[in-house]
Amino acid sequence: MQIRHRAKKSLGQNFLQDANIARKIVDSLRITENDCIIEIGPGQGALTRHIIEASPERVMLIEKDRDLAPALEAEFPEVEVIQEDALKFNWEDLDPAKNWKIIGNLPYNVASKIMWDVAAQSNATCVFMVQHEVGLRITADPGSKKYGGISVWIQSFCRTEYIFKVPPTVFKPMPKVDSAVIKFFPRPAEEKPIDIKGLAKLIKYCFQYRRKQLGKILKSFMSDCVVEWAEKEGRTLKDRPEALSPLQFQSLYKCVKNDFP
Ligand code: SAM
Repeated sequence: MQIRHRAKKSLGQNFLQDANIARKIVDSLRITENDCIIEIGPGQGALTRHIIEASPERVMLIEKDRDLAPALEAEFPEVEVIQEDALKFNWEDLDPAKNWKIIGNLPYNVASKIMWDVAAQSNATCVFMVQHEVGLRITADPGSKKYGGISVWIQSFCRTEYIFKVPPTVFKPMPKVDSAVIKFFPRPAEEKPIDIKGLAKLIKYCFQYRRKQLGKILKSFMSDCVVEWAEKEGRTLKDRPEALSPLQFQSLYKCVKNDFP
């Protein structure tokens, strides 16, 4: 039975109507029977039914809407429904012995914040549908126009891949823009940053001045170490933040961290 519900704009509710696209999104996560799946924002269950069909070990749904959560419980009694804001969920608490995979057609208004946390705190392979522009930014290569703070941050923890584009016509109500399906593959622990709060500050600070040169942005924290860092990394202090790879941001952070506020 289909869950009936009047869409709430405040919760970014645009419900996917096309079963073929829903299946394609779920297929791109490559669910196996040993996987534990978390779906963020299941809504009326467009993706959920295909997730259940793939027979994973466990399925958890995180839905903020107080009306939808009980309807989902009734529709899918075999899964766990958590009525909660995904922004408050502690991704670090997931049992590391389990094979977690996370999926969601994310509410546009909080998608970037949710992905910021999931990428840094979980070690899960993820498939997300997001606003097309956001999808392009998250999967952009260093040096490209779309590459920014969120690209550096998420790519510090995961390799990202653009999967496919989805038109507005397959949702109800229709959003104003295209969507993109993107995938995150977590990096091995030894490649991930350690002091993540400090790194986040440096990334945000540098991209506030995206058009400025590194030498100017970092002038208050300049030391011999920064000059050595640039030489070692094959960079110059005339480079702009968008030229640095996620690993170069990590090495830059190691060198400025003692002087950084
Ligand atoms: N997955 C469904 C689909 O594809 O049709 C619904 C997608 S709709 C774009 C986003 C869903 O996320 C809605 O069900 C909405 O209630 C839920 N949502 C919005 N903000 C949320 C939050 N902070 N935490 C968890 N769920 C949220």
